[in-house]
Amino acid sequence: MATSRTTAPVLIVGSGPAGLTAALYAARANLHPIVIEGAEAGGQLMLTTEVENYPGFPTGILGPELMGKMREQAERFGAEFVTANATKVDLSGSPFHVWVDDEQYTGKSLIISTGAKAKMLGLDSERKLLGRGVSTCATCDGFFFRSKDLAVVGGGDSALEEAIFLTRFATKVTIVHRRDRLRASKVMQDRAYANPKIDFAWNSVVEEVMGDDAVRGVRLRNLKDDSESTLDVAGVFVAIGHLPNTELFEGQIGLDEAGYILVNHPSTATSVDGVFAAGDAVDHIYRQAVTAAGTGCAAAIDAERWLEAHGHDSGATTDNWD
Ligand code: NAP
Repeated sequence: MATSRTTAPVLIVGSGPAGLTAALYAARANLHPIVIEGAEAGGQLMLTTEVENYPGFPTGILGPELMGKMREQAERFGAEFVTANATKVDLSGSPFHVWVDDEQYTGKSLIISTGAKAKMLGLDSERKLLGRGVSTCATCDGFFFRSKDLAVVGGGDSALEEAIFLTRFATKVTIVHRRDRLRASKVMQDRAYANPKIDFAWNSVVEEVMGDDAVRGVRLRNLKDDSESTLDVAGVFVAIGHLPNTELFEGQIGLDEAGYILVNHPSTATSVDGVFAAGDAVDHIYRQAVTAAGTGCAAAIDAERWLEAHGHDSGATTDNWD
C-alpha cells in the first residue's frame, strides 16, 4: 500500500476504467499521479466475467484482466497506487487532502472517479450466483443468453430498457415488478407492452435465485396473495437502480439529488475549482467501461490544463514540483 510520496500534482480517487485512464494520461503528462485505488480496486468490471465490448479485444477479455492491464499501463508511466479506501476528504481549496485512515495524501488537483454500484436485492442466492447468471448489465452480458428465458427485476426505465435489449437474444423475458404499475416513462412502457417476447410478473418479488453453479430459475412471491411460484430462467438481470459512490464528498461538492457529481459538461470540472470528476460517479446514462475511460481521459486533460493555468511546471521533478 505504501507509495514513495504522499503529495502529487494530481490525486485520483477510484480505480475503475475512469480512474485508471486518468492515471495513465496524468502519468504520461508528467503529473506523477497518486491513485487511491480502494481496498477492492478495479471497480465494477472486477465483478464481471467476459467483456466483449471493450474496443481492442476482438475475442473478449475478462473484466479483472482488463483492469489489471489498465493498472499496469498507468504504473508503467509512473502512477503510484494506494490500495485502501479513502476515508475523509477536504475539498475546501487547492491543495486538496484525502485521508486513508490517519495517512494524509495531498493533491494540487483532484480527480474523483469513485464509480457507482448497482443496487442489489440483498439475497444470499443472488450474491452466490452473481456473474453466473445473475447480472446487473444487459449490455455486458445479454449476449451470453441466446435462446434462453430470462427475468429482469425492476419497474423503472432501466429494467424496461434492459428487458427490451435482452429480447434480441432471449426467447422470453419476464419483468418481475413489486407493484402493478411501472415507474418507467410512458414511451418505454409502450415499447415493452408491444414486445411479444416480454411478459410481466406483477406484484412480485424474488425470494430466491435458484441454482448451484448457474442460475436455473427464480422463486417468486406474490405480494398481493402471498402465493409462491417458480420461473425457469437461465439469467436474472437486477435493474433496480444504481447508487453513486459519492457519500465521501457530500456537502463539499455539487451533487444532484441522486448523489451523482455535477460537472460542467462537456468538461469534467466540478463545482470546486481544481476538482474534476469522471466515470459512473457522474454518468447515470451510459455506464460503460469505454465511456468511463473516455471521461477519465478528459478529466486528466482538464486537470493538466488547470494546473498549467495555475502555474504548475509539469517539467519539474517529483522533488520540486510544488
Ligand atoms: P428507478 O427509476 O429508481 O427504478 C427502480 C425500479 O426498481 C423501480 O421500479 C422500483 O420499484 C424497483 N425497485 C427498487 N428497489 C427495489 C427492490 N429492493 N426490490 C424490487 N424492486 C425494487 O431506477 P432506474 O430504472 O435505474 O432509472 C434511474 C434513472 O435513470 C431514472 O431517472 C430513469 O428515468 C433514468 N433512465 C432513463 C433511461 C432512458 O431514458 N432510456 C434508461 C435508464 C434509466 P418501485 O417502482 O416500486 O419503486
